[in-house]
Amino acid sequence: MPRSSRPRIRSVAPRLGFILAVLAAVLPPTAAPVAAQVVPSATVTSERLGGADRYATSVAISQRLFPSGEAPVVFLTSGQTFADALSAGPAAARLGGAVLLTAAQALPSVVEAELVRLSPERVVVLGGPAVVSDVVVDRARAALGGSIPVDRIAGADRYETSALVSAASFPAGEVDVAFVATGTNFPDALAAGSAAAAAGWPVLITRTGALPGSIAAELARLAPDKVVIVGGPGAVSDAVAAAISTVVPLVYRSSGPDRFATAVQVANEYLPTATSVVIATGLTFPDALAAVPLAGALDGPILLVQPDDVPAVTRDAIRARVPTTIVAIGGPAAVGGITLGELVGWADGRLAVPAPGPTYPGYDARYHDYGEMLTYIRAAEIAYPDIVQVLSIGRSYEGRDIWAAKISDNVATDEPEPEVLFDALHHAREHLTVEQALYLLRTLATEYGSDPTITGLVDGREIWIVFAINPDGWAYDLTGGPYVGWRKNREPNTGTSAVGTDLNRNYGYGWGCCGGSSGSAAAWNYRGPAAWSATETRVMRDFVLSRVIDGRQQIRTHVTLHTNGELILWPYGYTRTDIPADMTVDDHSTFVAMGRHMASLNGYTAQQSSDLYVTDGDQIDWMYATQHIFSFTFELYPTEQVSSHADHEPPDEVIASQTARNRGALLYLIDMAVCPYAAIGKAGAYC
Ligand SMILES: [Zn+2]
Repeated sequence: MPRSSRPRIRSVAPRLGFILAVLAAVLPPTAAPVAAQVVPSATVTSERLGGADRYATSVAISQRLFPSGEAPVVFLTSGQTFADALSAGPAAARLGGAVLLTAAQALPSVVEAELVRLSPERVVVLGGPAVVSDVVVDRARAALGGSIPVDRIAGADRYETSALVSAASFPAGEVDVAFVATGTNFPDALAAGSAAAAAGWPVLITRTGALPGSIAAELARLAPDKVVIVGGPGAVSDAVAAAISTVVPLVYRSSGPDRFATAVQVANEYLPTATSVVIATGLTFPDALAAVPLAGALDGPILLVQPDDVPAVTRDAIRARVPTTIVAIGGPAAVGGITLGELVGWADGRLAVPAPGPTYPGYDARYHDYGEMLTYIRAAEIAYPDIVQVLSIGRSYEGRDIWAAKISDNVATDEPEPEVLFDALHHAREHLTVEQALYLLRTLATEYGSDPTITGLVDGREIWIVFAINPDGWAYDLTGGPYVGWRKNREPNTGTSAVGTDLNRNYGYGWGCCGGSSGSAAAWNYRGPAAWSATETRVMRDFVLSRVIDGRQQIRTHVTLHTNGELILWPYGYTRTDIPADMTVDDHSTFVAMGRHMASLNGYTAQQSSDLYVTDGDQIDWMYATQHIFSFTFELYPTEQVSSHADHEPPDEVIASQTARNRGALLYLIDMAVCPYAAIGKAGAYC
């Protein structure tokens, strides 16, 4: 059955009221006076799905998933032993069905009633008569009127059952990934389950020390692109990994130090931008097991808690996601001591505590820290879902997501429209650049549909904004008194205690060529041990390269935001020659014309990058030389005054005026993505 047949559940947030709240509280027009602090506001819907026991809880989940009944298939599995059921959740998700639990010797009446309500086309009973007796099977058959197929899937052991469930649910050659976890315990398979269910992939189980032949055969039949083992070598040995690799060459591991961390790890890797989260106990299996199809339909992870304690790793993962929907599974015994408000840092449905991390001092509170930035862009996505899509383009060295937004009409579709890229905060202390990026998002989102120029630009372009390339350095900079004045990333360097690479000297064109960077790890402009050695520059490189479609780079114009100097810089930085061999005369003329026009709009000074000072391995040189993107550096407010860090960290009173100042120049750059050569009157010759 195709993946699209899965039931889809969308947020039931009161959307209109929320949009109004967002408009009022989150995205104020810049011209208006800004309140002492812009407090991001978001709405979360929370639910609890629980019953008197595990069977009733599985029914509550089924009712949430199929509010009007009519599930095509029901997997009926033991609520007393987990072994046969670990593969069932993703299989049910794939088939658009439900998982219900039963006792071995009697079908609970609440489950029987739910079977009747669902009126499935078939029922699959997992395991042999020892775990689900013939009495139960007969009862289910009778409840459904005797005409519905009720069949067992039972292998010679739990592994063969797992393989048979997969074989019955996943056509050969149609899954990208197969998850494999131990069959001797349940937490790892559950951690894999929600990610598998969301994507339509299977979970298979294995012995710790040896790969069962039934599983090897099923992997060969599925022929996925890769296998992800969930759990460490103590759960699934390296010998098993090696055996799998003889069937499917690409084998990865995903695991954390305990079951709670493993669930977070899998969620971070496979559901990084999920805005729904399902919470279940990690101490027993039935609740989370039955919830896997629901999590799949919500496209959200199942994260694990204890009855009266939320492990820090789980709590941080939930808060960092800024979820809009939270579903807690289980009755009081399972998740009873937890209040959802505490869990996510919300009180009364309003976000009280954004993602944790260093923040600005009170007198600079108009600046958005990393968590506030994420809340802000998520709020824009929720308020303007037709034109704003939030995504993570990768992770920093310390594991922070590097967040981006796409702004375009039909935003979920990759349309054949010219593309424009903006990015901010290569350098940690250049705080104003994040505000400039948020200003651009807000301007495009809120004025779409009312301002004809912006409406035309959003309709006719695909606009990408990367809000902070260097989130680690940013967080570190905010730990000073009040600021460290940090510039580089936070990746350690071997053989020295000096930390960090200057990301804007680490790009792979002319890297280290020309005296425009330092080879000393302690230097502020250290270029790193090799081009692309820094995690964050690789993320940016891979994102830009991902926009090459059918051999053509879709991004035509680009601005990277820095501070300070009130300058607009064009390539090259590596040489003082105006038009070296790796630049055409017309390209140079186009850079000069575009740069000067933008400068006329914002009052900056336009010049070649190397007129400021020679740089090598910087971003705009690579963007132009290898991707033929008309790429500019903006050095924001203030002008170069004294050699002081304070130049990079102006007071928050200037944010509104100094970001609005660049409106015309940024919109011009978006406009010119159709044909940069129009700047020199040569659109006809080139475009
Ligand atoms: Zn900079």
